[in-house]
Amino acid sequence: MRKQIAAANWKMNLTLQQGETLIDELLSAPHDLKENQQAVFAVPFPYLINIKNKLAGKKNFFVAAQNCSDKKSGAYTGEVSAEMIKSIGLQYVVIGHSERREYFNETNAVLAEKVNICFENELQSIFCCGEPLAIREAGTQNSYVETQLKESLFHLTAAQLTGFVIAYEPIWAIGTGKTASSEQAQEMHAHIRSVMTKQYGNDVAETISILYGGSVKASNAKEIFGKPDVDGGLVGGASLIAVEFAAIINALK
Ligand code: PEP
Repeated sequence: MRKQIAAANWKMNLTLQQGETLIDELLSAPHDLKENQQAVFAVPFPYLINIKNKLAGKKNFFVAAQNCSDKKSGAYTGEVSAEMIKSIGLQYVVIGHSERREYFNETNAVLAEKVNICFENELQSIFCCGEPLAIREAGTQNSYVETQLKESLFHLTAAQLTGFVIAYEPIWAIGTGKTASSEQAQEMHAHIRSVMTKQYGNDVAETISILYGGSVKASNAKEIFGKPDVDGGLVGGASLIAVEFAAIINALK
C-alpha cells in the first residue's frame, strides 16, 4: 500500500515560539494516523531540531527540511548540506519547490543533483513539479511536467524510485486560493504515474506517492485526496492553522 502523506510547508513563516505553539495545538486536536499515513512538517532550518524533539515518539509524524544544497560540503556560505540534515536524524527533504525554482534559479539539472545527494545520505526527497499558468493555458502541462520528471529523476534506478515521493503543484494554484479541481489533479497525477510506468514499469510506479499541492484546505482536502492517484498533499497556507491542518491530516485515505 502506498504511503499517504499530509506535508506542511511552513515556508519562511512563524517564529520558533509560534511554530511550537502550532505543533502543540495540532497534537491536541483529534488526529488518527493509520499505518500507511504520515504527517510531515517542512519547517525552517533553525527549528528542525526543536520541532523534531517536539514530535519525538509521535507515531508517523516526521520533520522535513525545505531544501538542501546540491553540493556535498565546503565553501558555500549560507548553504545547508544533505549530510547535515541527515546528521540531526531527519528523513525527508523537499526538493524543487516552485519558489526555489523561480526565485533561486533551480533548474531540472540542479534538482537532479539534489535528489542524488539526498540518496547518498539516505534522505527521502519530496520532489516537486508543476506548470506555470501560461503552460496550463496553452494546454501543454503534460509534456512540461514530463520533462521535469525526465530531467531530474530518470537517471535513477527502479530500486531508488520504489516508494519515492513526488508532489505535483500547479504554480497557478499555489498561495492563490485557486485550487485545481479534483478532476484536474487526478488527470495530472494519472499522467505522472503513467510517465513513471513507461520508464520503470507498473510495479514501481504503483509504489510512488504523488501528493497534490495548491491551496489545499480543510474544506477541499477530502475530495482531492479521495481521487485514486492522489496520495495526500503538500500544504502551505492552511498548514499554518492548527485546526485546518489537523482536518487535512484526517482527510488522508
Ligand atoms: C506550497 O507551499 O507548496 C503550497 C501548495 O502552498 P498553498 O497551500 O498555500 O497553496
